[in-house]
Amino acid sequence: MTPIIYLDNNATTPVAPEVLAALLPFYQTRYGNPSSMHTFGGEVAHDVEHARQQVAALFNSRESEVLFTSCGTESDNAAIRGVLEALPEKKHIVTTRVEHPAVLNLCKHLENRGYRVTYLAVDAQGRLDLDALHHVLTPDTALVSIMYANNETGTVFPIQKIAEIVKEQGIILHTDAVQAAGKLSLDMNSIPADLVSISGHKLHAPKGVGALYIRRGTKFVPFIIGGHQEHGRRGGTENVAGIVGLGKAAELAAANFSNETRQVAGLRDQLEAGVLKAVPHVRVNGDREHRLPNTTNISFEYIEGEAILLKMNDQGICASSGSACTSGSLEPSHVLRAMGVPFTAIHGSIRFSFSRYNTRTEVGEVLEVLPDLISGLREMSPFWARRDKM
Ligand code: PLP
Repeated sequence: MTPIIYLDNNATTPVAPEVLAALLPFYQTRYGNPSSMHTFGGEVAHDVEHARQQVAALFNSRESEVLFTSCGTESDNAAIRGVLEALPEKKHIVTTRVEHPAVLNLCKHLENRGYRVTYLAVDAQGRLDLDALHHVLTPDTALVSIMYANNETGTVFPIQKIAEIVKEQGIILHTDAVQAAGKLSLDMNSIPADLVSISGHKLHAPKGVGALYIRRGTKFVPFIIGGHQEHGRRGGTENVAGIVGLGKAAELAAANFSNETRQVAGLRDQLEAGVLKAVPHVRVNGDREHRLPNTTNISFEYIEGEAILLKMNDQGICASSGSACTSGSLEPSHVLRAMGVPFTAIHGSIRFSFSRYNTRTEVGEVLEVLPDLISGLREMSPFWARRDKM
């Protein structure tokens, strides 16, 4: 089997060995229910609370401000629906055109339920106009939901400034920090957001676990109603192994933060520079100055991203042609469309995203095959043949 070069870490990450070691006992000997009265279960409850401390440390927050969920999508849903239910008189939501479907499709759904939603535009580099944000807020605005970092381009929004504008009006701010966790600071003392979503599988914890930071005092009605778990804020027996894994992953992310961000940025820059040098008619999409350290989104003009992905797949190289959730559909990326990326470039866009487990050797191997792979596809492309007339 061809060895895999995995450059799709914004889709999901491998579970860290330390995380696996921490969580395995909860599938083996420590299988108690944290809600049980006996000591066997009580010890597991203690482990869940330890994981909460580890995640709270990532947020520099109180433990009581961390709610465990099943994924980033649930955290986003819980935040948005939880606030709307707590503020039934308010019917306006502000978000952006480039959110993940977990927010965007929920907002579309809420429009059919009588809410008015403002979708803020972005410019050609994917940046928001903060004056526009200022102007759309009204006394009827229940919530602003703006992502911290974009999953497709890596563009980072100025979340402190956004929070200042929104909080000045006394409005609740949610941010989807699923791609930011472990790559950018999530210190909630310097980011005055009220709710923050993260997801385990994007930072080397398993799939099926996430967390929502809820600032103390934020108006919030539980989204999943059931038992008294999570201090009455989310019913359902806890995914203990996942939670313990997320705790460990948060601890590792905080401990290695500066080394890791430097390492992945180095790999990303090596790939980007190599591609720009060796391949004509390419463009990097997004704000290259304010960007996640691990992400690059490159358009190879006049060819189809899916064809590039398949050819790279034959060489064992894994990347993505858009958000993981939209791949499989031939719809061009809503993020690149919102940025006005031209037709000839939008279809040929590939996202490469790195993690601490990638190496310079891997990037070198990708750079060895990519230029020929692209020119081979271009020779077959009718758009490439007609490029001077387009
Ligand atoms: N938000 C962003 C920005 C994402 O990138 C993703 C996943 O790709 C999600 C939310 C959804 O997270 P999950 O897959 O844990 O539901």
